[in-house]
Amino acid sequence: MTILVTGGAGYIGSHMTLELRDAGEKLVVLDDLSTGFRSAVPADVPMIVGDFGDDELVRDILVYNQIDSIIHFAAKIVVPESVADPLGYYLNNTAKARSLLANAVQTGVKRFIFSSTAAVYGDPQSNPVTEDAVLAPVSPYGRSKLMVEWMLEDASRAHGLDYVVLRYFNVAGADPLGRSGQSTPNATHLIKVAAQAALGLRPKLQVFGTDYATPDGTCVRDYIQVNDLARAHLDALRHLRSGGASLVCNCGYGHGFSVLEVIEMVKRVSGVDFPVELAGRRPGDPAAIVAANERIRAAFGWTPRYDDLEAIVRQALDWERRLVEQPPV
Ligand code: UDP
Repeated sequence: MTILVTGGAGYIGSHMTLELRDAGEKLVVLDDLSTGFRSAVPADVPMIVGDFGDDELVRDILVYNQIDSIIHFAAKIVVPESVADPLGYYLNNTAKARSLLANAVQTGVKRFIFSSTAAVYGDPQSNPVTEDAVLAPVSPYGRSKLMVEWMLEDASRAHGLDYVVLRYFNVAGADPLGRSGQSTPNATHLIKVAAQAALGLRPKLQVFGTDYATPDGTCVRDYIQVNDLARAHLDALRHLRSGGASLVCNCGYGHGFSVLEVIEMVKRVSGVDFPVELAGRRPGDPAAIVAANERIRAAFGWTPRYDDLEAIVRQALDWERRLVEQPPV
């Protein structure tokens, strides 16, 4: 029973790799290192550098390693980039995922766990948003992911491939043991950017929009700690292994923080009053999006361990300091 982890050298994938390794699972990582780092994968985990859309390579990996489960992280994830290059996103996130799925079906893979996103909901009509809410992605990124959800549903019905789709809310923080974190240079995620501003790695932080219909006018998001998210995948895998049904689940804590609340926390934890500039809205941002998480709790018994913004911010700051001392390779 070997698991293929695509994108296992990236931010979330590397935490998954650690989670699986810590659980004694047998795994192989496939990553093209376009945004991931070799140093993010422990030396005792086999890693193949390559493209998950390369049919020949993927078939060889699936057959040679007798892969029975795939956890598919590898994707492009920057919303504005997807607006500028939609066809690039549909190629990478959708068309290549279709090849991966076809290879999985042809070689007898039994289970597929897919990284989807809260972006499939677009701007939700109410919060917390349940999995049955209207699916109305507003970006090519969200659409590129939603199409894979539909492919999985259809392929599962036709070919018996079992799957779990996990719709991530705002992933943040870093491994509490300091083994991994968000290493991508030029990352745009709020907690990462605020941590960099606190450490003087950026001159200031911009707040994108202060006139939203939220309590303080800034956007509200559900920040989920990255190890809790990785654990959700392991729980999903165990659910499928024990004969559980294919499912789509939100991954979030069920409560949110505004941009100003996050900034306040980063200032408090770091002890640095870094410059903050109030700026205009960023296109495509929903005012508020918070996960209803009853389904994942009930289906897998998923229980968060790090539902604590202060701890998440501390981890992000610790990881940023570590990156300065020891850049990833
Ligand atoms: N945000 C911000 N300044 C930044 C980065 C993000 O004000 O430098 C805001 C962004 O507009 C959104 C929230 O923080 O309202 C979370 O954005 P992020 O990019 O972290 O995640 P997203 O919700 O877009 O997936």
